[in-house]
Amino acid sequence: MSKKLLLKNAHIEGIRYYETYRKHGGYESAEKAFKMKPEEILEEVKISGLRGRGGAGFPTGLKWSFLAKPEGVPRHLVVNADESEPGTFKDRYLMEFLPHLLIEGMLISSFVLGSNVSYIYIRGEYSWIPDILEEAIEEAKAAGFLGKNILGSGFDCEIYVQRGGGAYICGEETALLESLEGKRGNPRLKPPFPAVKGLWERPTVVNNVESIAAVVPIIEISGAEYAKIGVGKSTGTKLISACGNINKPGVYEIDMTITVEEFIYSDEYCGGIPNGKKLKACIPGGSSVPIVPANLLLKTINGEPRYMNYESLADGGFATGTMMGSGGFIVLDEDQCVVNHTMTLARFYNHESCGQCTPCREGTGWMYKILKKIEKGEGKMEDIDLLWDIQRKIEGNTICPLGDAAAWPVAAAIRHFRDEFEWHVNNPELSQTQNYGIANY
Ligand code: NAD
Ligand code: SF4
Repeated sequence: MSKKLLLKNAHIEGIRYYETYRKHGGYESAEKAFKMKPEEILEEVKISGLRGRGGAGFPTGLKWSFLAKPEGVPRHLVVNADESEPGTFKDRYLMEFLPHLLIEGMLISSFVLGSNVSYIYIRGEYSWIPDILEEAIEEAKAAGFLGKNILGSGFDCEIYVQRGGGAYICGEETALLESLEGKRGNPRLKPPFPAVKGLWERPTVVNNVESIAAVVPIIEISGAEYAKIGVGKSTGTKLISACGNINKPGVYEIDMTITVEEFIYSDEYCGGIPNGKKLKACIPGGSSVPIVPANLLLKTINGEPRYMNYESLADGGFATGTMMGSGGFIVLDEDQCVVNHTMTLARFYNHESCGQCTPCREGTGWMYKILKKIEKGEGKMEDIDLLWDIQRKIEGNTICPLGDAAAWPVAAAIRHFRDEFEWHVNNPELSQTQNYGIANY
């Protein structure tokens, strides 16, 4: 059984409220942290090996150490709660059921970074959660954990919740900052990174909800103990939101030592695939990461079991591996059609492109149109090669990672499931009434 750090108290009734949270050890990490110097806390986070849980896996302690500290310029912590990656809903769970864990993590992190005004930017579709967060903020303030001179330290901190308008692109950190400043959420060119020029051109750290929540157990058990959980550079625990063709969809906390097979089939996690169907493929890290077929999902190219961690999922590069990403684990059984699935994603990315760069603005629409044609049985063999060519021209040629995120699913689908694309071309009539999966199994 995986060790629980973030969700260990999630089952306790009323844990969402300050009193219950406090009774079960809440804010003890904050009390401990406020007896330490900010540099000592930063060192603990570095030692813990915590990697950003939003998707990129960038070391959190290193990111914090990049924060510029020009004299007299305010600095900010911004929590990215714009969780919009299809298949990803673990931050929603944390904010809905454990809001004080996030507030406590933000308090400690703001103390380290010297942020007197910190923000939570939350996706517009999570319409009921800002009230939960604001209530928790008020409770924390009333208990002296936010506001002026927290725990007699002389440190002041306020937290504000800002609702987004429902655009996927506002999850990209610089688009998020633009939106927070009241502008259209267009990504900025990097560098400069937000750590140097962020919110209102001030040094800013943007971190995912889960990354900030993880600071609480790190301070509780120490960075060194946190680093002992997991394996290699995949330290600590990770929340996975599992969905698709599985018996038990939900949010699971894993310690990154379990195999993918165990995660899908064990009753502790996904509980297997409904109706005894076979596993076809999986997208383990949210819709932007490459789809992997069952044979490469359960084992690496060398025949080793594949594990639920950053390194093992990526083993073999994009040709045979994938990515941990945001931990949005989407399972496809044998009845699913990869062409249909890829077309749905292409439509999503085309709709969400901000339109600033030509390869993304034009390419995503072009890919969607071709995929729609193939899926309807109106495509030609050359269209598959054209699709491949377009995704190659998008990848790496855009301002922000949305371009790559639109290109990778198409590339992986053609690489691993070209037969399904060809079936649609060769079976125009069947394509209109059946999908590949149902017609072929
Ligand atoms: P990134 O690798 O560009 O950056 C990671 C972080 O490190 C950023 O905060 C960046 O500012 C910082 N950083 C990197 N180099 C730096 C430097 N030299 N100096 C200072 N700071 C530096 O990735 P990203 O654009 O932040 O995120 C992309 C990921 O987001 C994708 O892998 C995808 O999985 C994920 N994603 C998640 C969601 C979701 O809902 N959780 C949605 C879309 C995409
Ligand atoms: Fe906008 Fe797409 Fe360019 Fe990102 S890659 S800046 S979403 S056009």
